[in-house]
Amino acid sequence: MSPAQEASSILQELGVDATSGDLASRSPIDGSEIGKVLIGDPAAAAARAAKAFEQWRIVPAPRRGELVRLLGEELRAAKEPLARLVSIESGKIVQEGLGEVQEMIDICDFAVGLSRQLYGLTIASERPNHRMMEQWHPLGPVLVISAFNFPVAVWAWNAALALVCGNPVIWKPSEKTPLTAEAVMALAGRALQRFGEPPAGLVQIVQGDRDVAEALVDDPRVALVSATGSTAMGAVVGPRVAKRFGRVLLELGGNNATIVCPSADLSLAERAILFSAAGTAGQRCTTLRRLIVHESIADRLVGRVKQLFANVKVGDPRDLDTLVGPLIDEAAFEGMRRVLSDRIERVDAVAGGFYVRPSVIEADAQQGTVLQETFAPILYVLRYRDFEEAIALNNAVPQGLSSSIFTNDLREAERFLSAAGSDCGIANVNIGPSGAEIGGAFGGEKETGGGRESGSDSWRAYMRRQTNTVNYGTDLPLAQGIRFDVPP
Ligand code: NAD
Repeated sequence: MSPAQEASSILQELGVDATSGDLASRSPIDGSEIGKVLIGDPAAAAARAAKAFEQWRIVPAPRRGELVRLLGEELRAAKEPLARLVSIESGKIVQEGLGEVQEMIDICDFAVGLSRQLYGLTIASERPNHRMMEQWHPLGPVLVISAFNFPVAVWAWNAALALVCGNPVIWKPSEKTPLTAEAVMALAGRALQRFGEPPAGLVQIVQGDRDVAEALVDDPRVALVSATGSTAMGAVVGPRVAKRFGRVLLELGGNNATIVCPSADLSLAERAILFSAAGTAGQRCTTLRRLIVHESIADRLVGRVKQLFANVKVGDPRDLDTLVGPLIDEAAFEGMRRVLSDRIERVDAVAGGFYVRPSVIEADAQQGTVLQETFAPILYVLRYRDFEEAIALNNAVPQGLSSSIFTNDLREAERFLSAAGSDCGIANVNIGPSGAEIGGAFGGEKETGGGRESGSDSWRAYMRRQTNTVNYGTDLPLAQGIRFDVPP
């Protein structure tokens, strides 16, 4: 079946009409148009969300969790067709599409449990007959701006937490993947219906490009802007939200490294390198872009990686034996060509799509394009002699998302994870930098933006903290022992 035919049948199955509107979606598999959607109205969405917030914030959190539980059920039931649609619209292989929808299900399960655990502390007061505590209250409407490469999971990471935390959600998906977003909205619509009488405007989508996003970014009714995408986007969004004293959560580009030490299990390392560097056609924020390898094992490991890259099946992401699908579009192909020039290897897989073989480049120094995130499967190799040099190379880039080390030397592993080790938000041992679980907080430092979403205590970004002091005595002692007596 052609991508357009299959997309149309999946959309029909999921109850989505994507046949009219000004925003067209194209499948990277063959470049064909697979549907159209209407551009949204940012101001109207913000107004509806602000109204919904007044009701949703007073619904008990465990009841809010019930909505997310139903959403998880809808996603479980539609996992297969939604994953295939993700594959058709974003170009990732079906296995990764299934993984992406599983992540949505996992974060729903996590958020349901969380809805009974939005704990605050009680704090010892210095004053007699006083009690101190902190409460976590809903924050307000949350705007989720998402990127093409995780067209549905990023919304779920944010929405599941935002909803149990008491906040309405507005989604501005990538203009390159509007159909998967509509499909998710249809599933959310079913969950809302089964939930019974949710506030109107609790879960909304606003389709469009950066102009639509910027209007929402500037809207004071939006309490939190959670923006996932390039560093260039974050550099615009961050200051705009700061200007109106809004809250921002930025999940931006990465330039992730793996260090391979002499004691490493090379068979583990090479498999991890293949998945992390070539998987998703190098279009993950956590994609492995720099291989920092000890000079004593470099020739062997690099030879093996080149062999794996030469043999990996590049093709239609719906074929079961394909491991590398197409780049998202021609602009991505041109971005890769700017780095590789005539060394780029275009693969003749499906007419109309931009398919490339992953590339390995031996870099003499960490400079120029090695410091940038080219969103394509290019792996730079840097050789090191002593371990401190390897850590310095890992950290000497502007981005700080993910990192990993392959070693069987405990000292090296712990040094890498220590305060003087990797400066990234994610640091792994004996696995690649890519493929996080939802249980941990996800995000990175420096130009990656500093945000954390998904697991651990990331939920706090979606709530406001209130400190309460209660006097149950008959005196009015002041903090710090200050005397301020009323004259007789
Ligand atoms: P992009 O920055 O082009 O677009 C991402 C989203 O931002 C889109 O919805 C787009 O419409 C919107 N946008 C663009 N400019 C904007 C502006 N000025 N104001 C408001 N919104 C704006 O990114 P992309 O090409 O879709 O995705 C690839 C990038 O995303 C890579 O850099 C990748 O590393 C990053 N990414 C990061 C994470 C993470 O969690 N750190 C996850 C996925 C992708």
